[in-house]
Amino acid sequence: MEILVRDFVKENTDKLDAAGISDASVDIWLLLEYFTDIKKSEYFANQNMQIGKVHAKQVEEAVKKRINHIPLQQIIGQTQFMGLTFKVNENVLIPRFDTEILVDEVVKYVGDDFFKVLDMCTGSGCIAITISYMCDNLAVTASDISKDALDVAKENNTLNQTDVTFVESDLFEKIEGKFDVIVSNPPYIRTKDIESLDEEVKMHDPHLALDGGESGLDFYQTIITQAKDYLNENGMIFFEIGFDQAEEVSNILKENGYKNIVVKKDLAMNDRVIYAKKG
Ligand code: GLN
Repeated sequence: MEILVRDFVKENTDKLDAAGISDASVDIWLLLEYFTDIKKSEYFANQNMQIGKVHAKQVEEAVKKRINHIPLQQIIGQTQFMGLTFKVNENVLIPRFDTEILVDEVVKYVGDDFFKVLDMCTGSGCIAITISYMCDNLAVTASDISKDALDVAKENNTLNQTDVTFVESDLFEKIEGKFDVIVSNPPYIRTKDIESLDEEVKMHDPHLALDGGESGLDFYQTIITQAKDYLNENGMIFFEIGFDQAEEVSNILKENGYKNIVVKKDLAMNDRVIYAKKG
């Protein structure tokens, strides 16, 4: 017996709605398109479309996980970032749309010049891999303290056919050589604020990737101070920052002699990226 897609979507959207999942029908369609060959666009042209039992069961199993607030990206094990596909699991921060602003700024800066780039705290590898994908002539290194995160990043490097070099390192501990660009989206949430994060972020993103210490600034402080020894003359440093951290991070940059500090906003008009030149 076949089931009408229309009924299936309605029933499962209602289940997610009842569990307090926002954008329930968006999630149902993403799951349908992931597990089956049903396309939302084709469904609108043929409202009598049906879904087979096996596919229905697969989607229903995923809906059960979603009801437990497991992020959709972790259920299907992947997400999109700047048009590329990235594998994700519980060991990496799910790439955020806002982080695309950071990649945009780095890509604008490097263009097609030959540059050595270091992405510190790479997680899924989304920043390093996208930059490497978009720019020719780069030598991109990516580091993380977590071996489990690096395993995911390496898979993503293969998946996207990029050529990033990976180093397991606690910040600069195992980093060798000098770079023209250092980029990082480090953990920047104040420890006490983690409790008030969105349930799904708090429960399912790795705290190792979120917790920036009491002030939220621990990683900026260390990276900015030590980066001076790892940047070439005129080298640039780029960070993602929390919406309320531009002034504090800017001060750390100034205290360390960096020049030409620029802050960029995200689409919600929150400060999101800061970059500066080594002094
Ligand atoms: N932007 C992420 C969030 O909102 C935090 C990322 C980070 O700490 N680097 O949860």
